[in-house]
Amino acid sequence: MLPRLEDLERRALEALRDVVDEDGLQAWKVAYLGRSAELGQILDGLRAVAKDERPAVGRRANAVKASLEQAFESRRSQGAKDSLDRSLRHDRLDVTLPGRPAVRGRLHPATQTLRQIARIWAEMGFQVYRSREVETDDYNFGLLNMPPHHPARDQWDTFYTTTPDVLLRTHTSSGQIRVMRERAPEPIRVILPGMCYRYEQVTARSDIQFNQVEGLAVGRRITFGDLKGTLTAFARRMFGATVETRFRAAHFPFTEPSAEMDVECFVCGGQGCPVCKGTGWLEILGCGMVHPTVLANGGYDPAVFSGYAFGMGPERICMLQHRIEDIRYFWANDLRFLEQF
Ligand SMILES: [Zn+2]
Repeated sequence: MLPRLEDLERRALEALRDVVDEDGLQAWKVAYLGRSAELGQILDGLRAVAKDERPAVGRRANAVKASLEQAFESRRSQGAKDSLDRSLRHDRLDVTLPGRPAVRGRLHPATQTLRQIARIWAEMGFQVYRSREVETDDYNFGLLNMPPHHPARDQWDTFYTTTPDVLLRTHTSSGQIRVMRERAPEPIRVILPGMCYRYEQVTARSDIQFNQVEGLAVGRRITFGDLKGTLTAFARRMFGATVETRFRAAHFPFTEPSAEMDVECFVCGGQGCPVCKGTGWLEILGCGMVHPTVLANGGYDPAVFSGYAFGMGPERICMLQHRIEDIRYFWANDLRFLEQF
């Protein structure tokens, strides 16, 4: 029996040397250390061995078992180390490679123009006043001198909500009443930028949403001369120090008198081109002296206070500056458009 154990140990250790991978190692374990392996059978069959040989055979069998288990463990830990070495060799990570650059975002072209406008007005002492986009019929129309029967309401097709008299503002002018009621009787110099909504057919020239920048100055002895001087100063900062401006009479329900301001076409320098339709002028904003009724609705006595207001469209100005031909590009989220700015 003892020579058989010697032979078994020798064969097992030889077989272990030929093992190449984890599967082979597990198969070896089943073959030599498993329950039905030869060694297991010898240990199970000790009872049949002659009584005087039994202690020596038992000791030897246990020693062989311990030797094989130890060989298995050391082979297994060597295998783990080998596979780690292999993976370090083959799957090398080159930490010196430069990383992939993160794509940096940028400001939307409408936001860029909006900020440029806000910066110029800030330099001239105007604060930014944020007003709500969801308004009541009163603030959007009634208090701005447009009672329910007023024909001017037909100019604006409006998104009404399911709540009666609650709508999406059609212009930033509704914020005029809010800031006046908040500040009266203190003087006011604010701009009111933000999104407006109109239920219109979407075309290259009009969209259902767009930004406006409203301006409002209220105080004592403010005149139409202040309006012209301030807006001309704005135009020079915005479009160039030598740009010509002109005011044309217009009509808005919430200002009296009212005007529209044109600037000299900055595409052709006033010579006439397709952008200015051959006139040499570009319409930039509407303006006027705040109507006495609107002043009173805001809490200011029109006999003591006066003021001027104006409104412009940043997208329209941005379109003129960059020769953008379709307003729908602004909110279509097309990166091919947005990445040009
Ligand atoms: Zn022109």
